[in-house]
Amino acid sequence: MLDQIKGLHHVTSMAADARKNNDFFTHKLGLRRIKKTVNFDAPDVYHLYYGDEFGTPGSVMTYFPFPDIGRGRHGVGEVGTTAYSVPEGSLGFWSERLTAQGVKGIRQDASFGENRLEFDGPDGESFALVESKSDGRPVWEKGGVAGDEAIRGFHSASLRLKDGGATEELLKFMGYENVDSSGNIKRLAVKNGNGADVIDIETIPGAPFADLGAGSVHHIAFAVENREKQLEVRKALLDTGYQVTPVIDRDYFWAIYFRTPGGVLFEVATHEPGFDRDEDTAHLGEALKLPTQHAHLREYLEKHLQPLGD
Ligand code: ZN
Repeated sequence: MLDQIKGLHHVTSMAADARKNNDFFTHKLGLRRIKKTVNFDAPDVYHLYYGDEFGTPGSVMTYFPFPDIGRGRHGVGEVGTTAYSVPEGSLGFWSERLTAQGVKGIRQDASFGENRLEFDGPDGESFALVESKSDGRPVWEKGGVAGDEAIRGFHSASLRLKDGGATEELLKFMGYENVDSSGNIKRLAVKNGNGADVIDIETIPGAPFADLGAGSVHHIAFAVENREKQLEVRKALLDTGYQVTPVIDRDYFWAIYFRTPGGVLFEVATHEPGFDRDEDTAHLGEALKLPTQHAHLREYLEKHLQPLGD
């Protein structure tokens, strides 16, 4: 069993409209946009990152807004709900706030002994806020939500699978342990994690496979401290028979990717070098940052990328 993985690093999804996406995460959820850059493979598409003040691993939601792509179809073989951690007693505030802002699909319930507020993202993706008693992670307080209500980072992500067995084994190999179960959901958590410690495996045998589109999670990334630990994880996965990509430089972290037995794309990403690599912490996410190989496109991109409106 591996011990290098410290919970979630980021979750990356698809969107249809960059401006609405930016509005949702910064103005509605009160997160900080920590990077405005473009897709490495399709530089005319943004890559937008939202998180806490620093873009701490375990708080980072990222999006590729492909203008006008169709909605994805939800099903099995994908990440289901991405849940954020909020302070105990704050769900009333959030319910009122999100309702007033026209957020859809708002529903309050309880599971695993925790109060949850579920709601839809701008493209029908599934989010939740979960009240946590003892989540001391620092928050971004300049996003319009006070510190005693603001999002702490991720709480968990759920994987919707036709058969959860092999993915559960994989997660245990990656350092996760069964901690609870409820109905068709098995809850696993990593010890000594970064706060974004929980993965729920939801088994839905009869459901169709998901189709990727706006509102779909593209992949989910797990955090390791540095490249040395990443190589240890990569070797262990290769030795177990997984097909893992070489290490890829993503400018703000190093990444490896592999497809899991249930169909979900996993990534393992490093803390280093971090989002302050090319701009001051005080100004994260403000200027358009381009990967070196696309730097020559700046003039074109600044003219053609959809203004975010901020
Ligand atoms: Zn990623």
